[in-house]
Amino acid sequence: MKSPDRYGVIGYPISHSRSPLIHRVFAEQTGEAIEYEPLKVRPDKLERAVRQFQRAGGKGLNVTAPHKSEVIKLCDHLSERAATAGAVNTLSFRDHEIHGDNTDGIGLLRDLAVNHDLTLENMRMLILGAGGATRGIIGPLLEMRPALLIIANRTLGKAKALTQHFSGFGPVSACRLDEVPDDTDYELVINATSAGLKGDTPSYPAAAVSPETICYDLSYGLSPTPFSIWAREQGAAESIMGWGMLVEQAAESFNIWRGVRPQTAPVLEHMLITV
Ligand code: NAP
Repeated sequence: MKSPDRYGVIGYPISHSRSPLIHRVFAEQTGEAIEYEPLKVRPDKLERAVRQFQRAGGKGLNVTAPHKSEVIKLCDHLSERAATAGAVNTLSFRDHEIHGDNTDGIGLLRDLAVNHDLTLENMRMLILGAGGATRGIIGPLLEMRPALLIIANRTLGKAKALTQHFSGFGPVSACRLDEVPDDTDYELVINATSAGLKGDTPSYPAAAVSPETICYDLSYGLSPTPFSIWAREQGAAESIMGWGMLVEQAAESFNIWRGVRPQTAPVLEHMLITV
């Protein structure tokens, strides 16, 4: 009997990742014969680990923090959305070549627009963080034609670089995390920092949250994340953790690899989505 095709997720750290569980459920649901493993890989070992996986016959990898930008150098082909984002979260190994794609943006959009029934057009949006995940979501969010989109980051230069990169796509601007303009009623505040992963709680901009604000944390946990607790304490209209995005981006990756899109609702039903 043919052994299952090999997939995995590569990151540092990686123990928090629920991708192995989600892909196992997708495989059961669709009857696809795959195995999927977490790979903890330090940044200086990224290329060696990817090439080893490819040589061993692996079919695809998800890529998570902090490798999403760096892994582009290893790709022979990039999808348009990955090229626009300058970040890759899905690698496919085909005919000895590496194809890079980015499903983070579509995953977030599906969660916001389909699972949470939100209309993103004309929204005033604030993103905290300017790393690989932010790169993946800015383009798709701007395609929804928000009224404005501000990127606030601890390191201002990284947020500014992103606004330069995306300035042709819509009304995007940058500021420091501790200097978020407080004269705007933000309707959507997205935490795309990895602070929670490291157990840090930076001083998130309290003035950005009103009772009309929906707060969305890309991070997720079995118990509420520090940002989702903070958002609830600020009186946000809703405080959502990133389970939905995680499952939706995973479904897109699965579809790229296997040519079949699994149903996400049954997987989401078993997860804590809203705090
Ligand atoms: P990344 O490329 O390593 O970027 C990390 C970002 O967090 C940077 O902007 C960094 O700011 C900021 N940051 C880290 N520690 C901080 C602190 N103590 N105070 C303030 N800012 C801090 O990571 P990423 O790939 O963008 O991932 C970000 C988060 O999104 C991770 O938690 C990841 O798990 C999550 N994520 C979730 C999904 C999902 O499907 N739900 C998908 C993708 C990512 P500096 O630039 O100043 O260093």
